[in-house]
Amino acid sequence: MTVRPAGPPAPTSLATPGIAAATSGLTKVYGSGDTRVVALDQVDIAFREGEFTAIMGPSGCGKSTLLHCVAGLDTPTSGSVRIGSTELSTLNDRQLTRLRRDRVGFVFQAFNLLPTLTALENITLPMDIAGRAPDRRWLDRVVSMVGLADRLGHRPAQLSGGQQQRVAVARALAARPAIVFGDEPTGNLDSRSGAEVLGFLRDSVRELGQTVVMVTHDPVAAGYADRVVFLADGRPVDEMARPTPDRVLELMKHLGARAGDGGRPGDGARTGGLV
Ligand code: ADP
Ligand code: MG
Repeated sequence: MTVRPAGPPAPTSLATPGIAAATSGLTKVYGSGDTRVVALDQVDIAFREGEFTAIMGPSGCGKSTLLHCVAGLDTPTSGSVRIGSTELSTLNDRQLTRLRRDRVGFVFQAFNLLPTLTALENITLPMDIAGRAPDRRWLDRVVSMVGLADRLGHRPAQLSGGQQQRVAVARALAARPAIVFGDEPTGNLDSRSGAEVLGFLRDSVRELGQTVVMVTHDPVAAGYADRVVFLADGRPVDEMARPTPDRVLELMKHLGARAGDGGRPGDGARTGGLV
């Protein structure tokens, strides 16, 4: 038991147990007047710890904006975003930078590796810049899971696309962040390389307890997740637990047909359009 020194009571933790990140009324508006776009419209969503969530939806529905706002890379117009117990709007620029560095990992479609560094140097680069010593045991597990033991001294140009993206995933995991985001991380890969990257992401969830949120348009990729959230017009309209590619495809057709029908996504009264 810890004994607290006398003084004001410690603030109650705002964290909801088991929730890695959550939004409340998250709204993002770009532009104004004729160019005004509501990219996110009052989004309430939570990502559970140790869960792999896929985000799907038509182009322009707000998937990237959602990821960027939750990761602290973009600022909401209104509403709140919380990573663990930290409400992002309470942070100044410096604190936000630190949060992005220490508590969030991001994998982009482009691998964004530094060409002059080896695979291992790329993985540890963010921590080297931050002057932070890696948690050696964690890093060893991440590196062994990446499956590149004999290529860690290679430069990115000497690696295949799938291997480069696995290095980028390992880099995102290296600092042991609270949550890892991927925006179409397999978008530039052939299906076999994509499967290697998706397998690695799933293993990081299963074996390391990592929390992962990934945008994808590919039902096969979504099949690696524990849960799929479907967005349309800046808000979640449906979700599926334990997805399989076939079930995801079926629901996509259904949602697409409903939207094309002139029906509002999420309008439970419409059930037509199932093929
Ligand atoms: P998705 O990733 O699902 O394709 P985005 O989140 O990129 O969608 O975009 C959602 C909407 O916001 C789109 O209509 C897009 O054109 C708009 N948008 C995104 N970023 C900007 C920006 N920086 N300036 C203006 N509009 C933007
Ligand atoms: Mg996008």
